Amino acid sequence: MHGLHNLRHLRRFFVLAALIGMLMLTACSGADGRTIGQAPSHGTELTPSQQADADEMDNPAQDAGEHAQDPEQPTTEAGQDEHEGTPPEEPNPQEDEHMDREADALEAIRTRYDITDPASIAVLVNKTYGLPEDYEPDDLVKVDIPFVYQDDSVHSLRQVAADALVEMFAAAKEDGIELAGVSGYRSYAIQKMLYEKYAARDGQEAADKYSARPGHSEHMTGLAMDVAELSGRCAARNCFADTEEAKWLAEHAHEFGFIIRYPLGKEEITGYQYEPWHLRYVGVELAQILYENDWTMEEFFLPESVNAVNMNG
Ligand SMILES: [Zn+2]
Repeated sequence: MHGLHNLRHLRRFFVLAALIGMLMLTACSGADGRTIGQAPSHGTELTPSQQADADEMDNPAQDAGEHAQDPEQPTTEAGQDEHEGTPPEEPNPQEDEHMDREADALEAIRTRYDITDPASIAVLVNKTYGLPEDYEPDDLVKVDIPFVYQDDSVHSLRQVAADALVEMFAAAKEDGIELAGVSGYRSYAIQKMLYEKYAARDGQEAADKYSARPGHSEHMTGLAMDVAELSGRCAARNCFADTEEAKWLAEHAHEFGFIIRYPLGKEEITGYQYEPWHLRYVGVELAQILYENDWTMEEFFLPESVNAVNMNG
């Protein structure tokens, strides 16, 4: 075994040496008027017999995934990125182990959260998963922040989310960002009234892209708040995306346990258009994971169903 291994090393060395020699000859020739170092258009293409050896040279890369080199693309073509010319690295068992450990750790976290209990901070509410009509959180409090609209029927959140939101608003203010609340907890009855109003105005299909059917609104969990700039000029409107306030929220909300629940580019997964103003409380641990991995709740908790969505286009 050992002898064979050495032999292969030796062969690899000769192939490499031959290739380097050819490369130097072409690069330094200049007989055809090219300056040294300029990428030759033909000179270094491998003959079929050399390619067979080059393929063997690539064998160690077979387990290295993306880094495996395409035999159609000789590695010695001058002018290519340097990294492509170096022999691929052997698979790194330590790195694999590290990835496995990380996946296990995430799995352990995932199983600690209950996404079906309406009172769980990780409850999953979307077009598929709904809340019972009679669910009402038992720890709703009026949130002590400025609001754009004075109708206080939607100024509440569950205690844990309210405390986190107040803390976040204070931190934003220290950074010169002044925020206001737009709409927090909404009962089943209020959501039903809103959805029916929008559906009558814009049609059901359009309404479904920005409004939830009763029982399917995150606002019914008492863990979601729509947030605007203090002026309220872009409250729940697309122009909010371009504000300093929205940028601050996208960068910092997770530090306080909130996520941007309907991100840009994830419309197919969440079922909703981009809503930079809709903040959902999930707790700091979960918010951090989702933020760092750029995941929605669906991607973290239901990866199989997300793959199915993607396959269906
Ligand atoms: Zn909302």
